[in-house]
Amino acid sequence: MVEFPYPSGKGLHIGHCRSYIGLDIVARKKRMEGFNVLFPMGWDAFGLPTENYAVKTGIHPAIVTKKNTVNFKRQQKNLGLSFDWSREINTTDPDYYKWTQWIFLQLFKKGLAYKSKMPINWCPSCKIGLANEEVVDGKCERCGAEVTKKEKEQWMLKITKYAERLIDDLSYVDYPRRVKISQKEWIGKSEGIEIEFKAGENKIPVFTTRPDTLFGCSYLVMAPEHPLIEKIKNQIVNYKFIEEYIEKSKKKVERERISEDKEKTGVELKGIKAINPVNGREIPIFIADYVLMHYGTGAIMAVPAHDQRDFDFAKRYNLAVIKVIKPTETTETATENSSQLIEGKAGVSQAYEGEGILINSGRFTGIKSERAREKITERLSKRGLAKRGVYYKLRDWVFSRQRYWGEPIPMVKCKKCGWVPVPEKDLPIKLPKVKEYKPTEEGESPLTKVENWVNVKCPKCGGPAKRETDVMPNWAGSNWYYLRYCDPQNDKKLASPELLKYWMPVDWYNGGMEHTTLHLLYSRFIYKFLWDIGVVPKLVGPEPYRKRTSHGVILGEGGIKMSKSKGNIINPDEIVREYGADILRLYEMFLGPFKQAIPWNTKGLKGAKKFLEKVWKLADKTIVFQKNRIHCRESLGEEKKKESQDLKRILQKTIKKVSENIDSLKFNTAVSSLMEFSNDWARNEDSLKKEDFKNFLKILSPFAPHFSEEVWIRAGFKSICSKAKWPKYEQKLIERETIILIVQINGRIRDKIETRTDIAKEEAEKIGLSLEKIKKWTDGKKIKRTIFVPGRLINFVV
Ligand SMILES: [Zn+2]
Ligand SMILES: [Zn+2]
Repeated sequence: MVEFPYPSGKGLHIGHCRSYIGLDIVARKKRMEGFNVLFPMGWDAFGLPTENYAVKTGIHPAIVTKKNTVNFKRQQKNLGLSFDWSREINTTDPDYYKWTQWIFLQLFKKGLAYKSKMPINWCPSCKIGLANEEVVDGKCERCGAEVTKKEKEQWMLKITKYAERLIDDLSYVDYPRRVKISQKEWIGKSEGIEIEFKAGENKIPVFTTRPDTLFGCSYLVMAPEHPLIEKIKNQIVNYKFIEEYIEKSKKKVERERISEDKEKTGVELKGIKAINPVNGREIPIFIADYVLMHYGTGAIMAVPAHDQRDFDFAKRYNLAVIKVIKPTETTETATENSSQLIEGKAGVSQAYEGEGILINSGRFTGIKSERAREKITERLSKRGLAKRGVYYKLRDWVFSRQRYWGEPIPMVKCKKCGWVPVPEKDLPIKLPKVKEYKPTEEGESPLTKVENWVNVKCPKCGGPAKRETDVMPNWAGSNWYYLRYCDPQNDKKLASPELLKYWMPVDWYNGGMEHTTLHLLYSRFIYKFLWDIGVVPKLVGPEPYRKRTSHGVILGEGGIKMSKSKGNIINPDEIVREYGADILRLYEMFLGPFKQAIPWNTKGLKGAKKFLEKVWKLADKTIVFQKNRIHCRESLGEEKKKESQDLKRILQKTIKKVSENIDSLKFNTAVSSLMEFSNDWARNEDSLKKEDFKNFLKILSPFAPHFSEEVWIRAGFKSICSKAKWPKYEQKLIERETIILIVQINGRIRDKIETRTDIAKEEAEKIGLSLEKIKKWTDGKKIKRTIFVPGRLINFVV
């Protein structure tokens, strides 16, 4: 399976083609090997560009989508991609999104979908909520106005409930290491403890993974959104400044707040202090936007001597740096520095984040840091000031947008009953027609204006109620599409369990590196949920994709990014028109290692063209030779027979190489070995046997299907090439390649023999002793010992 595309108005990108062609080659080979291959294609067609186009032009997104998918499909067909079009799906098709809505209802019923107030990116000038990708450097992508935050009631999905399994189950799958790492980092699990700091009457819990550094805590930092601030605002003497800071931080997007390169800012809450629970020390409290409310407890204990971020912040605001861990190996310098660090004026510019021995830590001084973590946790727990906890960076997933072009969320709000799910029999809830696609002034979906759609009877009490007007985010349709491919027309179920049992899990899923966090994580989550509730049979297992690979992007000539503004976009239509699809296919595969980013080079196309032209000529000659029986008859003599056999042997090696390379996505080396074979063939153009000619066409056909079929028919072979059986190479023939075996007498070279690679000792001995030159040395002498180095030499000691 390849990732299904968003059918944009720009048409197929040459980078899309790379992934499609690569996996098409795999699919074609697997079919020829006798596998029942499901190689599907569909359209992930809800989304922003079409919607924005509708806002601008008033053209219904469904019309634009239709036009774009027709174009994409035409382009894919032009490339000879062997997709099973009987399984084509489209996420914007009501028969499809009926099931996307159905999944939402199941999530709601299991308590995994809930409403919560969440800040969204808000452009005050366009009066529109923006997706993260529409915010560029904190500004609105369309109008350039500064983006702010606006609180909205949003549907949320409890992906955090699956955090642990999303990490653990990675052990079942074959993903590249870097993909597994990025999944884990995105989930960001950390185990530690929650410690309670007192601040007057109030308690501030903080989360830390390093309770061993608690004696080094010299201040606390809270997120600007921390609810305590509002509560204690009368005690804060500089509340005006605090308020300003909070306002400013609201305008920042999260990425900006936690970015490593941005300087960390903050303001002290004057008039209030916290108490460090281990030593009763009074410490200042700050608010700073690099602390996020949704991570941990929304507050951290700062230990500048042992955390680089805290250290940078402490230096900036001239706060105490108390060293409490001494690295075990550099005892001397550490002690020296520690006294300086307490002064806060050290020349040291780095925190020590490693393990060591505790210093300046009261009764825990002298204990190893790993052990101190346990000891301090134990002690604080006994006093009721700490508890163990696991935290994840992963947050619940904001699953609503106040826009038009998405799946309507099948929920109804009743004044009496609250949120009530739409009965399953009423699905799909279709998108109604609207006059205008732009969100309202208040940033609500344009659906709010469609009164006869919005106002409904409550499914529970029959009273007046209103439909949810938010729609689902872009990812909703792609979470489960692989399941629908197994049974695309089913109108009773999302897919039949029998068919899911037969096809799932996806054996091989190729896609872009840019989708390895969100899409991969979201779809694994939804899959697990569907597996849990029995939609996917238990037998299939807990993961949707057995194997994941990624292709590199194609850059413009010279290695710069392809973009409209640079005018270096390559249109596959033009290449197909000028060179044909097969040359484009061969060239894209020959371009370089599939997994690496690679620059486009139009000149390279000529190489692929030359290769096919050469094979065409050779094939034509071979067909003529075979028709006239000029070639390869046993009676043609030893010389011709040997040539034929040599060519056969080279072909066996080529079959082996191409077969293995396709399985490991090394298409570039596969193409180059096909090219090498054509050179050998050219040197002995009348020596290719019929069977070998056929086999060559078969291994060429996944790369150049149109060309291979054409030659296949011209040669009068039966059926079609792409339905032929994938050739097996003959291991024996490859091994039987000859080597030069050195024959020695008492360690001195006396002769050489050309023989098989795998010749055994006994045979080598026999041949060696029969050689005239050797007989001279062994005549009448006793052979004391024979030393045989396989593949290299045989030495007779006389
Ligand atoms: Zn704007
Ligand atoms: Zn009701």
